[in-house]
Amino acid sequence: MDMPFLGQRIPCSQIVYWYKKFDAAVSCYWLRDKSSFKKNPVFLLVKRYGHPWKNGQRFSTPADESQILGCPFLEPCGGGGGDGEVSTKRAKLSTGASTGAGSEDRLSALPDDILVLILRCLSTCGATQTSVLSRRWRRVWALVPTLCFRYTPDTRQIGPALEAHETALLRLSVLTRDAAPDSVSAWLAVAARRLSGSLLFHNTVVREWGAQEGDEEEAAQKGAFELPCLERATEVSLHLGFLVLAVPPAGVFARLCELYLSSIRFHSPGLLGDAVSWPRCPCLQKLNVLDARGLDNLSIHTDSLRQVELTVLRGLRQLNIVAPALEELKVAHCYFYSRRSQPVANSTAPQLATLRWMDPYDPSSVHLGEMRHLRLLKPFFFVVYGDDSSTHNQSCLSLLRRFKVIEHLILTLIYLSDIDDYQYVMEDMTMLPNITILHLNIFANKHAFGTSAFHVLRMCSGIRKLMLAFLARTYVEAQTACPPGCICGEHQNWETEHLLLNHLKEVEITRMRGYEHEVTFVKQLLIWGTALEKVTVFFDESVTESVAKALSLVLRSFPRPEIKRADRRRLPHEWGLWKGKNEASFPRKICGEAALNP
Ligand SMILES: [Zn+2]
Repeated sequence: MDMPFLGQRIPCSQIVYWYKKFDAAVSCYWLRDKSSFKKNPVFLLVKRYGHPWKNGQRFSTPADESQILGCPFLEPCGGGGGDGEVSTKRAKLSTGASTGAGSEDRLSALPDDILVLILRCLSTCGATQTSVLSRRWRRVWALVPTLCFRYTPDTRQIGPALEAHETALLRLSVLTRDAAPDSVSAWLAVAARRLSGSLLFHNTVVREWGAQEGDEEEAAQKGAFELPCLERATEVSLHLGFLVLAVPPAGVFARLCELYLSSIRFHSPGLLGDAVSWPRCPCLQKLNVLDARGLDNLSIHTDSLRQVELTVLRGLRQLNIVAPALEELKVAHCYFYSRRSQPVANSTAPQLATLRWMDPYDPSSVHLGEMRHLRLLKPFFFVVYGDDSSTHNQSCLSLLRRFKVIEHLILTLIYLSDIDDYQYVMEDMTMLPNITILHLNIFANKHAFGTSAFHVLRMCSGIRKLMLAFLARTYVEAQTACPPGCICGEHQNWETEHLLLNHLKEVEITRMRGYEHEVTFVKQLLIWGTALEKVTVFFDESVTESVAKALSLVLRSFPRPEIKRADRRRLPHEWGLWKGKNEASFPRKICGEAALNP
């Protein structure tokens, strides 16, 4: 489509906003820039023909045909050339040529609140550029309540832009590459005064493959920047690319509800706990710290926190949490990297419902307190072939021993790639809590995993739902099985042993690739589950459409007369098998097209 012009009639498909006073709507037209091949939005005030406007606010009903009534970029009438140069079109408009009904730029005549709605659909850079259109447009961008600076070439412009902003700033996003601490301090100080909502700052470090540690050191040597007290911020998300953050020793984050910190190095490690605790952070409900350095001691006392996630806090030695309202706690790979030191933790969270402790656990130094309301537990992974030095297994078993009943258990079994020098230690696992839902993750590394999975299922034969996930490395694997003679083949008696899972109603299998070991195990599972009503299989992304079809046929061929159909579901590589008397009651949207029905 050529460049539109005022007065032109166009097919118009996207309505941004209908303005009743004009009996017209603001629509969006995508203008392709021939030099960069980018599409830039041009907003048009259009009158619609064919159907009357609906009496509503925002809507996106396709229009049959619309006439362009106004656009500050376009020439008045008849001269649409399609050269993509917005500035020249605007210049022609400003000459004031008047050629009839289409000559008036009625878009610029809209009130501020409508123009702000339009500019919210643009990038902040695009919105600020409209200030050159005319005096009318000069301040409109400053009324937009959300600003996003994406890789601004000169970050020194961000601070003045925030200063010039005139309305409550509800959302600020700043994306940078290799930011310097000084530049971050400059705009962050202004943001602290202007922000009344959420802040997202994402600093990407451009690095060569494998150069992570060196780059972290380099980032550390640039110096620290201090986080100002964002007194009216409600959500703060900082991904710093290992810039050094100095947490302020005083001040209140009065309205902060969610704090997310990632790839971060702390300048004064002891201060984070104080800053997120009561009374300095009285509303904080979610705290998420991911991939941090220099945080050896974290002590949190709070009445408000409901969710805490701490992942890869390298060097953490001691964690203290007193949080009466805490419902979810995740600690993953924090103590794991300090193998020589004992994990030390004290937690008082009597309302805890979900605990993911994927880290060394020693009951003599990790005190998690009473957890009477715990429903979901995920302990550290269990290495199926290991030796006496495997602390993961002891951590896993010690935590499991704490509970007699757990509604939902997430258990991860791991096979190392080369297991010939290790022993089968699965029999160290002698008991499990009473479980209703078992989520079994298996990282098989191409080994035969049936024995270990069977061992687990035998200890929890009362489960009602099984979620079985086949984990694997993300890169494409050339082999589909371990080398001949591998010791994983020594324990294959499980295939002939009897197991009755007569409470099991539902099985969900994810990331199935169709390896022989996987298919064999699923076949046995269908035999053990005598009361199964629903089986859903999600194939791995690497499985092609044709392989998925073939696998689905194989699964349906298993000697279970109750399996009636294998249906294609809405997402690619997802296939469902249903069996049992309740098939007809499943919602239609899950069943989808019966593409594979015979
Ligand atoms: Zn093997």
